[in-house]
Amino acid sequence: MSSTVRSVLALGSNLGASNDTLVLAVADLVEPGNVRLHAVSPVVRTKPVGGPDQPDYLNMVIEVETDLGPYELLAHCQAVEDRHHRKRTVRWGPRTLDVDIITYGSWTSHDPALTIPHPRAASRAFVLQPWAWMDSGAQLDGRPVIELAAEAGDLAGLVPFEGV
Ligand code: ADP
Ligand code: MG
Repeated sequence: MSSTVRSVLALGSNLGASNDTLVLAVADLVEPGNVRLHAVSPVVRTKPVGGPDQPDYLNMVIEVETDLGPYELLAHCQAVEDRHHRKRTVRWGPRTLDVDIITYGSWTSHDPALTIPHPRAASRAFVLQPWAWMDSGAQLDGRPVIELAAEAGDLAGLVPFEGV
């Protein structure tokens, strides 16, 4: 018997055809029987936070329902990153695709290989704002995501993506 968990995933891209990459990545993340799509946020364009000088990002979040365990879900997300030619070079550097697990049900973890909730999500408008648009009642660390988004330092650099 398997149990189903809701998980919020954050996707980002700032190299290549980022909008196409996000669309294809959402399709790749869905796996019949294992990962079902529950909700999809709008795409936002954001200024990079930290790291070297680099192009703007496109970001979005999705909510999935999954039968995968947390580490299986991480491996699945990393396999989708790899499929989109993600290369890990500079930390916080430009990337074709980043997929982070923001929440996994009510499960929490301090493992550096899988920290849940994602340790920087609560301060990142590029995660919080699309999440609040997708799910206006969402909570993180006991606080409304919509409030955390309003307080995030990078909110001023975020605009809805309206195509190229
Ligand atoms: P970042 O997303 O921080 O810019 P990476 O995508 O290169 O950087 O991820 C670095 C490492 O972060 C991964 O090898 C992964 O094991 C670890 N990690 C820890 N917590 C999480 C999480 N919640 N979601 C995704 N990766 C995580
Ligand atoms: Mg990542």
